[in-house]
Amino acid sequence: MSKQTSRAVRIHAVGGPEQLVIDTVSVGEPGPGQVRIRHHAVGLNFIDVYQRTGLYPFPLPLALGMEGAGVIEAVGEGVTHLKAGDRAAYAANPPGSYCDVRVMPAMNVCRLPDAIDFETGAAMMLKGLTAQYLLKRSRPVEGLEAGDFVLFHAAAGGVGLIACQWARSLGLQLIGTAGSDEKCALALEHGAAHAINYRTEDFAARVKDITNGQGVKVVYDSVGKDTFDKSLDCLRPFGLMVSFGNASGPVPPFAPGILASKGSIYVTRQTLFSHINSRERTQAMADDLFAVVEGGKVKVRIDQRFALIDVQAAHKSLEARATTGCTVLLP
Ligand code: NDP
Repeated sequence: MSKQTSRAVRIHAVGGPEQLVIDTVSVGEPGPGQVRIRHHAVGLNFIDVYQRTGLYPFPLPLALGMEGAGVIEAVGEGVTHLKAGDRAAYAANPPGSYCDVRVMPAMNVCRLPDAIDFETGAAMMLKGLTAQYLLKRSRPVEGLEAGDFVLFHAAAGGVGLIACQWARSLGLQLIGTAGSDEKCALALEHGAAHAINYRTEDFAARVKDITNGQGVKVVYDSVGKDTFDKSLDCLRPFGLMVSFGNASGPVPPFAPGILASKGSIYVTRQTLFSHINSRERTQAMADDLFAVVEGGKVKVRIDQRFALIDVQAAHKSLEARATTGCTVLLP
């Protein structure tokens, strides 16, 4: 087959949304362990912003995007779990999903169940697998059981609304924070037991009230700099702080002695890409996600849709905290 081309959103220098440009790139045949996928929808994630600004450094030029869904066009040698014509979706490194068609490693690409449409598939893989590992694979030393309180920041966002619903289905009492009263209402509607507007309220004081002074077993914190210190104050003794993002900026270094003074608490910094580092684990986590979505326990809410060419506007609204739920780009 002769070489085809694709539009690909790339950056040639780090910086603001204006650095996002649409290039034409050539796309070849998949090599061993690779597939070629034609996207029907692409997921937008906050990690794309960190890569664009240079907070997470990559060699340039960099094709952005870590999530997508579409149809497999060709598979390379050794790929047995997919074939041409399959509907598929993925969250994967290296970046490059903001495009029409790409060749990529097959390891993290999963067949998409027929009941799940492409937009949902594109919106939910990175965010849903993240909610999966946060709730199922990042457990406090004293365990996590139905009825336990957890605190989840940015609860009305893409990962947040999935986590609210999934936590409810596990019987957890999720206290969500969000940046407006409307966003708090959305978190409650999607299963949060309590919601706190952290722009107007002291979330640590509210958490103490809600939990009768006990604190929560786990804090899931993707906001970073602005929430980290107070989040530690929300934990009960031996509680677990799961830091997994830096929407407000990276967390500065801190002295480990703080953890003893707050009740021998634990802190971990997690990334999805450690969890999906094998085909078997990726598929097991994806199957868990597909089951809650197909079973209706988790509804993937897509509140923003942008044409691929409007990617700059999409980044602007995500960074301006103007989005709720998931955002997809449509090639
Ligand atoms: P969201 O849709 O949640 O958007 C980010 C939200 O963060 C905003 O809507 C906003 O909600 C909140 N926020 C708080 N402070 C700021 C700020 N200063 N600037 C911008 N936003 C702010 O994004 P995603 O669902 O894509 O991702 C959620 C978080 O999870 C991100 O931080 C992301 O990096 C992280 N993540 C980490 C992964 C990992 O494995 N480590 C994997 C996937 C996501 P509000 O207005 O309510 O405060």
